[in-house]
Amino acid sequence: MRLIGFCFLFNLICAMNAYTQTAEKYAAIWDKEHISHIAPSDVRHADLKNYLDQLKKLGLAVNEVGRSNANREIYQVEWGKGPLKVFMWSQMHGDEPTATSALIDMLAWLQKNQKNDLVKKIADTMTIRAVPMLNPDGEEMYQRRNLQGIDINRDAVDLKTPEARLLKQLRDDWSPAIGFNLHNQGALTTVGRAPSQAAISLLVVYGDAAKTTSPGLERNTRLTSQIVLALQKFIPGHIARYGDQYTATAFGDNFTAWGTPVILIETGALYGKDEMFLVKMNFVAFMTVLQSLANGEEASQSPTPYLSLVENSSGGLVNFLFRRANIHVMAAPVAPTVPGAAPPTVPSVNAPSTVADIAAVTERRRASLIAPVTIRNIGNLTSVRGLEEYDASGFNVYQRFGIVKPDELAEFFFYKKDRSVDWTAADLEKQFPPDAVFSSGKWIKGSGVVPKM
Ligand SMILES: [Zn+2]
Repeated sequence: MRLIGFCFLFNLICAMNAYTQTAEKYAAIWDKEHISHIAPSDVRHADLKNYLDQLKKLGLAVNEVGRSNANREIYQVEWGKGPLKVFMWSQMHGDEPTATSALIDMLAWLQKNQKNDLVKKIADTMTIRAVPMLNPDGEEMYQRRNLQGIDINRDAVDLKTPEARLLKQLRDDWSPAIGFNLHNQGALTTVGRAPSQAAISLLVVYGDAAKTTSPGLERNTRLTSQIVLALQKFIPGHIARYGDQYTATAFGDNFTAWGTPVILIETGALYGKDEMFLVKMNFVAFMTVLQSLANGEEASQSPTPYLSLVENSSGGLVNFLFRRANIHVMAAPVAPTVPGAAPPTVPSVNAPSTVADIAAVTERRRASLIAPVTIRNIGNLTSVRGLEEYDASGFNVYQRFGIVKPDELAEFFFYKKDRSVDWTAADLEKQFPPDAVFSSGKWIKGSGVVPKM
């Protein structure tokens, strides 16, 4: 009797194992088998079509379901044959690309591994429909909005954009049981107060301002908790809860209200990690959810990991902070020419130098382009943190192209304070070579001279 009991238990465990992979395993799978090979911010509509051609060759159903304003094709990919309807869409904001590549990798892997017991179970449980890159015109311009200059994610009610009309139609025609709204957030978004970057932020999206719950939203809370537990193995301390104020015109909120409870995944950035690492994190999150829905493990998951996430914050983190720099050639105010107008600022070598902190931020650009680094703030920035902080107290700092003031490029010459420099010299760099030069976010001369904090 005992032996039979043992065998039964053993078989049950074996059966469960067949349907369970760890997050580490999914990460290893992605490392080995991902087909996306371009940094997501460099994936153009033509590259997406190449990816989709690869999916077609694998036998996946790829359908053009609509067109953008500029007549670019918008595609939906379908996989699986089960009754649970799972809908995932990415890049409704053109410059928010990470999940597009992750969806491609997920679909390719599922299709290639149909004989795997777990994948069979997922296919029998659900049908997935995915729209990678809902806003191809925005992608081409690398901007949030569509060609009309409208934010598609504020167009869920007015439906003035073809992309929003398509998204609503795809939902209404199919009535999915769960939706995944896939975005990117600013690279300097933090988990609560700085300095921890929010590499991934998650939100179970309510369908009304009163935050009325439902079985679908409670399931989403459990699923999102599983995403948290999976991702914590790779990015502990870098997972946040996205701000949850209700937005009456946004798609996530309305999808939930229309009967498709939504999970929002916002990919941020992580110092020292590239965009592809974040594709992997998305892949792990997606596979964790699909597995959980397929083997039912979400039902016994506590919602606590999600509920105890710290909320997103912004404004407290910059890319570069130079502490206590002695700044030469600040903006020197001159008398306004029009009474009441703000004084124009001109460079003045006669203005006294000032000791202050300088904060600089990297602008968002495609990975293949050089991203400008601009001055964000100058002053006592004790409450601000930098991903890179330097002790500039032993240096005079001179702006290469004129004035040290917000919105100017952060292009700096650093001179050790004990050096005698004629700041009025016509060709300062030639006559007085700087000890270190910071340009486009890099030390192009004298790396390590200004000590890191
Ligand atoms: Zn977005």
